[in-house]
Amino acid sequence: MNSTPTPKKPLTGSCSCGLISWSTTSPVTKATFCHCKTCRQISGAPFLAFAGSIPANTVTWTCRSTSALGAPTSPSEQSHSTSMSSSLPPEIASVVESMTFAQTDVAVRAFCKSCRTSLCMAYFCRSEDVDLVLGTMDDDEFDGHVRISSHIFTSQKAGWYEIGDDGVERFERFPPAWEETIRQWKDTQAIDGPSNEHERGAALLEMIKARWFLRK
Ligand SMILES: [Zn+2]
Ligand SMILES: [Zn+2]
Repeated sequence: MNSTPTPKKPLTGSCSCGLISWSTTSPVTKATFCHCKTCRQISGAPFLAFAGSIPANTVTWTCRSTSALGAPTSPSEQSHSTSMSSSLPPEIASVVESMTFAQTDVAVRAFCKSCRTSLCMAYFCRSEDVDLVLGTMDDDEFDGHVRISSHIFTSQKAGWYEIGDDGVERFERFPPAWEETIRQWKDTQAIDGPSNEHERGAALLEMIKARWFLRK
């Protein structure tokens, strides 16, 4: 096995309409193929490939309307602020406003608001990391080697698709250790989080957005 290569330059990707782009200084080397029904529906394919566990603070999100984070944003682009984006620098708020989010009780996915390309997801119990959707990566920027690390949620695999003999681990749901991490996190939420489910979800989404967009 090669040691993890350091990218010569940031890796980049974008949604299909080009509104949202990302770049990361992290190496992208491991791919998790998720066969869950939601990933199949979102991707329209037998599975959705994620570059997992990318530190969120190494990912820079940009929005075409502002050309890049740090670029000036016109006041008209700052309308419709959500509770969090109203507290964000305007150039970052415009990125947040260009995304739409879908959350479950354990994770959140982000999509381009314009073309609905699935961009990334993150688990609330490990909010410092983000899983980038690999299909959005610009191949011409890639100078490493992506290896498939696991197939997950094979219990929901499409009946018309057979996983090839690639020699990597397969899990009916999450890997057991990760399943346990999620379970423990849920327990702490039940004790420490807001009792109102809606409030809890809103707070978690704000927390994730802060992780993604406020680079510390
Ligand atoms: Zn788009
Ligand atoms: Zn999935």
